[in-house]
Parts: sequence; structure tokens; C-alpha cells
Amino acid sequence: MTTAARLSELRSQLEQYNHSYHVLDAPQVSDAQYDLLFDELLEIEAAHPEWVTEDSPSQRVGAAPLDQFASVTHKRAMLSLGKCTQEQELLDWAQGLAKRLEVPEVALTCEPKIDGVAVALLYRDGVLVQAATRGDGSTGEDITANVKTIRSVPLRLQGSNIPSELEVRGEIYLPLADFRRFNQAAEAAGDKPMVNPRNGAAGSLRQLDSKLTATRPLTMFCYSLGWAQDWEPSSQAEVMEQFAAWGLRTNPALQRVTNAQACFAYIEQLQHQRADLGYEIDGVVIKVDSLEQQHTLGVRTRTPRWAIAFKYPAEEATTYIEAVEFQVGRTGAVTPVARLQPVFVGGVTVSNATLHNMDEVERLDVRKGDRVIVRRAGDVIPQVARVISDKRAPGTRKVKLPDGCPSCGSKIVRTEDEAVARCSAPAQACPAQRKEGLKHFASRLALDIEGLGDKLVEQLVEAELVADASDLFALTVEQLAGLERMGEKSATNLVAALEQSKNTTLARFIYALGVREVGEATAQNLASAFGSLAGLLAADLEALEAVPDVGPIVAAHVFAFIGEPKNQALLQRLVDAGLQWPDVPIVNAAEPEAAGPLAGQTWVLTGTLEVMARGDAKQALQALGAKVAGSVSKKTTYVVAGPGAGSKLAKAEALEVTVLDEATLLAVLDDPSKVLEL
Ligand code: NAD
Repeated sequence: MTTAARLSELRSQLEQYNHSYHVLDAPQVSDAQYDLLFDELLEIEAAHPEWVTEDSPSQRVGAAPLDQFASVTHKRAMLSLGKCTQEQELLDWAQGLAKRLEVPEVALTCEPKIDGVAVALLYRDGVLVQAATRGDGSTGEDITANVKTIRSVPLRLQGSNIPSELEVRGEIYLPLADFRRFNQAAEAAGDKPMVNPRNGAAGSLRQLDSKLTATRPLTMFCYSLGWAQDWEPSSQAEVMEQFAAWGLRTNPALQRVTNAQACFAYIEQLQHQRADLGYEIDGVVIKVDSLEQQHTLGVRTRTPRWAIAFKYPAEEATTYIEAVEFQVGRTGAVTPVARLQPVFVGGVTVSNATLHNMDEVERLDVRKGDRVIVRRAGDVIPQVARVISDKRAPGTRKVKLPDGCPSCGSKIVRTEDEAVARCSAPAQACPAQRKEGLKHFASRLALDIEGLGDKLVEQLVEAELVADASDLFALTVEQLAGLERMGEKSATNLVAALEQSKNTTLARFIYALGVREVGEATAQNLASAFGSLAGLLAADLEALEAVPDVGPIVAAHVFAFIGEPKNQALLQRLVDAGLQWPDVPIVNAAEPEAAGPLAGQTWVLTGTLEVMARGDAKQALQALGAKVAGSVSKKTTYVVAGPGAGSKLAKAEALEVTVLDEATLLAVLDDPSKVLEL
């Protein structure tokens, strides 16, 4: 394709994506994908300035307004922002400014770049008379009636020295907790969920019936002065202060810095806080603080010269599903996994995404060959956020749960009360379960066998050197050194590590066995309750159920495990191999009194937590006096359920235990008195 042809292709593609995004609130591609095409367009136009046309997407902001709304002509254009992703680019930008201004350094402000909808509020004598969207930058939509429903937007300004006319600019957005709540309710009701908070906010603002807008918990941060009659503030910082004094909502995270270098600390710090902000951001907006300098610098076609957006790596990206496969876990759980065309998202290249369970597969209706948006926020496991269904190739088929285990071929079963499907073979008979069981046995919280990584476990099982955990301790340096990517030295080290791991604790040992639903905390409780392996092996169902945290289901799993002759034989072999631990003083089942605002409460965490690591959440709750249990029972006070929650969520619902989302958990951790409102 010639460059000119590519240019025209890019233009029509971007035009179409723009329309879907800005006018229909239904993006067809991820922002990262859009930005890539946009950058390509800019590059071609930079090389061929003579090809730049007035209607090129590079010359315009947003998209033309919808004609359902009256249009508003902006007295001063509402622009987009230039962007950068590298520190050097930011330094270059600031240096360019200093040069133009003929000063050594330029003082700047840093503030979060909120992912919402830009609006302009017009106050006449302190009264809100008009609210408009950005539209194409020069003409927006009149959304006054809708904006008036937003409680954080003052209908009348307070205080003194209010200009006779004042245009305030800012971002209307949907807080994350409200976004999630809305989508949960929409899904439960079979309604269309919001694509993301930004689109949710845009869609909510452009309702023709403002009663609908009123039901959406939108809010606003005011971040700049459009223009004012008889008011000449000197800096961005002063504008923000005055806005706040008039009762306008401003972002407390704004910070003034003396030069560009000082922005980096802000950028880094905000990135750490990103997950806790409660609203989506995609970067930091850096502005020249002095309004006089802003004025001197002026604007380009679609962006001001005096501001720039430093963008964080995108958390969403578009890619293809190459296959949906099923992975078998340690307890036989069969988990669908999407194999992706590798894509860079959230700062790393991702080629797999979890699909959690068949309910999730069905909800997403994800199929091989689909174009999808993949999301990876923070350190969370990548997920398929949604399918771009209008891009689906004909002839694709729904993903079905296979009949047989992909590893051993045994029947896969799924009981009605469980979200999870399982391989029906016992662990010993299924190589996948065996491998996963061994990985668990060697893992950090279990026997912590250094050097026994996942790949090595797979090799050992495939080479039939190891069938169960007890075989590990019979491995010799010669056997190990013969394996792929193993040398004499690492083999010797591993044998030493295995030897060392034999001295362990009863709790670790119980955890390492990988009994279904016996996590680290339950293992600890079992160890404290029975004191020794013999004590545990002698326990009956009743004794097991008396252990703190152990409900009838967990008790049944433990009871079945210890009653199985094959397991008893394995335990004996492990002891014979030299595994040992000190006996534990038996702790009375009565629990110690905890103190703190959540004392007396029992919490259960289930599913994927997206913001906090589960261990951290647990510790934080315990620090407030709550008990964190591994299973749901009538004694459970709250269940916190994240995506992928299965049987525990179902059980909570059956027992009518209050289920909270992660945002609510964060709110409670932040301010435990919130728990009274639950
Ligand atoms: P932008 O969103 O990257 O930046 C400009 C906007 O930032 C301003 O208009 C304002 O609304 C906002 N902003 C947030 N916080 C601010 C603050 N503190 N101070 C000042 N402004 C602040 O640029 P844009 O022109 O609005 O839109 C381009 C974006 O939209 C890109 O990220 C692009 O990927 C996306 N987009 C996506 C598609 C798609 O199909 N996925 C299509 C078109 C555009």
C-alpha cells in the first residue's frame, strides 16, 4: 500500500472509531489501539505536511455533537491534550516552554488525568445557567438539565467576589465503586452493562431524560478556568483554591512543582496510589502554573502548548483469542484459559488470560477467533474484559466444557451448586493434578523447596521420576543432572534444598498436602487443634467441625482425605522419608478475644481481588479485629466477592449473608465506621 493510501485508510478508520467512541459511547477498539493508529497518522502527516487536510482527525478534537441536544458554541475552544509516555519527552516539552518564555525554569502543576467527560459549566452571577460537553472542541452539546442532577455540581456558588460570568471546566466521571455496582445490578437484571467508567459517564450524561441521569452517581472535579468576567487570577493553583472556596469540587491531589524534573516523583507516587483513588485515571496532566505564561504560550490546532498529559501504560488492549483451553488444577478444578495473540498491556506482554469458570465464559460469550479487550490493572492476573462482538467472524462456535479431562481423559463433572467443573479422577491418576499438587507441595507457604520450580516439576512427572511427593526425597543428583536445563550444580543444590525442607512445621505440612479448601489459615487451625499428625488422623467429622473456621464442607474434605488408604500410605512414606516437625501445643477451640472495631465479625474473601492482594486484605481485616475465615457459614458476617467467585458466593447467597464488593471492603478498611452503614 502506498503511504497516501495508508493515510486515507487511517483517516477513515479513525473517523469511524471516533464516532463510535465520542458519539455512540460504544468504542470498537481499545484506547491503546486507537492511539497507535493516531500516532501513525501523525507520523505520516509530519513527514508530508502538504497532505494535512482540515478534516483530518489530527486537526480535530473529539467528534461533532449529537443533534438530539441543542448545541453550544464554546467561547474559548475546549482542547485535547498532547501526550507523552517517557520522562525524556516531558523534559523536552518543559525545555521547549522555557525557551519560548525565555526563562530558566517553568513552575508546573501536576494533577490526575481523570477518565471521564470534559464539560464546561457557565455561571452567571453565581448561578449555573449552562453545562456543555466538549463536542468537537468548538461546538458541544447542551446538557444543562442532566448536569443539574449531579449533586457535587453547585447550582449556585457560595462566598464572595464571584465574577458576573464564569466558565468552569472539569471532568464528570463515575467513581469505580458505583461503576461496579451499576454493572452488577445491570447484569443481574439482564441489562446491558457499561463498557467502562468513562463510557458509562458519557452515556449517563447524554440521556435525553434527565431523570435517568439523576439515577447515575456521577460526580465532577473542576480543573481549569475557561474564562471569567472581571477576574484575573495569576496561577492554576490560585484558580483551584478559589474554585474550592466557591464550593466547586476540586481534586485534592493537585500539586505545584518548581520544574519538570520534580514531576517524576509525583507521577510515580500517583501510579502507586492509582488503585486506591476510587476513580479511573490514565495519567497525570501537567500544566504551566502561571496563567500569564499559559497565555503567552498559547494553543495549537487541537492541543494547548502549556499542558501535556503523561500517560501511564494502558491497562486495556485489543487482541485476538487464539484458543480457549482448559487447565486442570491441583484439586481437579478445570479452568478455562484464553490463549491470546500476545499483546502489551499494563506494562507487560500478555499471552494468557484467565476466564475463571464456565459461568464467566458464558457471560462473556467468548469464542476462538474473537477480538477482545484484555485488561491488566496493577499486578492482577490478566482478564478478558469484553468481546468486541460486532467484529466476530462468521461460523464461530460457543465454547463448551469438554467431556473428558485434557490431561487424563477422565470424565469432567460439574455439580449444580458449584461454578467449578472438575476432573473426576483421583489426584494420583491424573498427571495434571499430580503436577499441580507437587507444585503446591513445593511452594513458598508449603514446604518451600527452593529450586523446584514449575517447569522442573513438569519434567519430573513426565520423565516418570516422581509420581507423588514422597518420591521427591528419593531423587539423586545423577537423576536430576540428566534433566533439561539442569546441571550438576543445580542438581546438588536441589537435593540439599529437599533435605532442608524435611524440617518443617505441622501447619506447613498439612497445607502442603493440598486438601481441597484447606488453605494456609485452615491448616494452621487444624495443626493447633490436633497438635500432631496422629491427632489429625484420629479426628472424626465432629472434631473437625469444631475447629475454628472449619465448616461442614471443609470438614468433609479433610475427613475424606485422611480416610483414604492411599493418602494414609503417602503420609507414611513422607514420614519415612524423614519429614518432621515439632508437635504443636494444642490450642483450645475457644477463640481468643480480638479487639478492634470489627471484633466479633467473621469475614470471608472469595474470587479475585483486583486492588488489594488477598493476604493484605486479610491482614488489614484482622488488624481491625475481624476474623477471616476460609469458608462461608451461618456465622459469617460478610463475604467479599471479586470476579470469578464461585461456590462461596453461592453459599453466601443461599445463607443470605451480605455480599460486598472490593470497593466496599476498601471503604471499610479506610473507615471502619462505614461498616455500620452496611
Ligand atoms: P485525552 O482524553 O487523552 O486528553 C484530553 C482530556 O483529558 C481533556 O479533554 C479532559 O477531558 C481530560 N482531563 C482529565 N483530567 C484532566 C485534568 N486534570 N486537566 C485537564 N484535562 C483533563 O484526549 P481526548 O482528545 O479527550 O481523547 C483522546 C482519548 O480518547 C485517547 O485516549 C484515545 O485513546 C481515546 N479514544 C478512543 C477511541 C476508541 O475507539 N477507543 C476513539 C477515540 C478516542
